[in-house]
Amino acid sequence: MNRYISLFLAFVSIIAALPLPVQAAPRAKKSNVILFIADGAGFATFSAAADYQTGSPTGLPYMSKPWKLYSCSTYSIDGDYDPDEMWSSFKKQMGNATDSAAAATAINAGVKTDNGSLGLDDDQEWLETFAEMAAKKGYTCGSVTSVQVAHATPGGVAGHADSRREGSRIFEQSLKSGALSVLIGCGHPEYDRQGNPVVGDSLSRNSQLATRNSSDDYYFSADGKKHFLEFNVFGPSKRQWEKIQNGELPEGWEFIEAREDFQRIANDPGEAPKKLLGIARSHVSFTYDDRNKERQVIPTVPTLAEASLAALNVLNQNRKGFYLMIEGGAVDTCNHNNNLPGMLLEMREFNAAVAAVCDWVEKNSSWEETLIIITSDHDTGALWSPNADKSGSLFEKIQFNGKGSLPTYKYFTANHTNQLVPVYARGKNVELFEKCIRGTDPFFGKLWNYDGRYIDNTDFIQVMTYVMGL
Ligand SMILES: [Zn+2]
Repeated sequence: MNRYISLFLAFVSIIAALPLPVQAAPRAKKSNVILFIADGAGFATFSAAADYQTGSPTGLPYMSKPWKLYSCSTYSIDGDYDPDEMWSSFKKQMGNATDSAAAATAINAGVKTDNGSLGLDDDQEWLETFAEMAAKKGYTCGSVTSVQVAHATPGGVAGHADSRREGSRIFEQSLKSGALSVLIGCGHPEYDRQGNPVVGDSLSRNSQLATRNSSDDYYFSADGKKHFLEFNVFGPSKRQWEKIQNGELPEGWEFIEAREDFQRIANDPGEAPKKLLGIARSHVSFTYDDRNKERQVIPTVPTLAEASLAALNVLNQNRKGFYLMIEGGAVDTCNHNNNLPGMLLEMREFNAAVAAVCDWVEKNSSWEETLIIITSDHDTGALWSPNADKSGSLFEKIQFNGKGSLPTYKYFTANHTNQLVPVYARGKNVELFEKCIRGTDPFFGKLWNYDGRYIDNTDFIQVMTYVMGL
């Protein structure tokens, strides 16, 4: 007999033998799913960050037991993943890559769609997302990102649009659909990408993302300076921002923007509102985003860890459980820019959020009721050794140089790739990943020291819906 079945039967007979407690209230067991996405982070990115932080490319806590390691194919709707073909030439990895919107749709709705589409299939049909299903069944759901609040990855949690650039529409959907109780990110119109208040029209010149709605989008601060409002295509629109400022949010939502308010809610569950909209005081991300200078954390915005803990304290008020997606969004930006030191900083912030959330789970929940998944939506940058793409060292791995030292590396593209990405998982029903295995990539497995087995990005929803009994 199956070991679990016999254990279960033994358990049933013990329970049956016990006297029933009088008026025992049936205690509904909670189910929580926390999904971390380091945007644009393949095995090389995760490993480089681990080595830089710990001195071992597998040195982070979630990279060893009891955590499970699988991998995941992320190919676009027009592509596939064939291990033999994949490693037949160096160039193959560059083809058939997904974008973040199609990947977010695959992860949240279980369907591959056209690149650029969110929550719609390739016939533009509306797809129900995991958060929408979970909310209908009484779970609370939320999304936290270190980039703009309605960017593709957070937008995929409860957004539906044929273009990921319809940020204000996606923002509106996220706020009003009833599926979400937490929405945290950047895209603040009064602050520039370095987290400074916008003075004059400085931002227009240094942000390609900003669009100026009209010449009267400005206000004067107490010191008499003229401030322009700049509306980010992945954030609230002018009309939406006015409503937020006037307190005209859908019922139950509370708006915060100051780092102290994120910290207040992160530190004290008693401070948590029913629903939380947090727009951090930065136009683009939690980190200073200037390609020509060293990337640094903006001190006036929350850390990803603080934002995540605030989200957890809001969502955890629900007795049934919750789903939270947490994105390290600017990892992808750095890999696109082939900025490895910047990527390491973004991954450090991401890993700090993972550590804080795991700590939260152990104090406030348990691994019996919470599943944590740490993965990526796709690889970006094709990060290998500088010797790669040469005969005799075609696929030579990035070389790790230990704690605090940059690896020896070369980016081979500024775009996304079709490489498998890692999936680290721990907690409730984690064994279900075993049922989702699509194949094995022996070459990639050997390269990254795991068994090479992979699921597909459309499989996460199977595991997540099972955990929540949907
Ligand atoms: Zn992405």
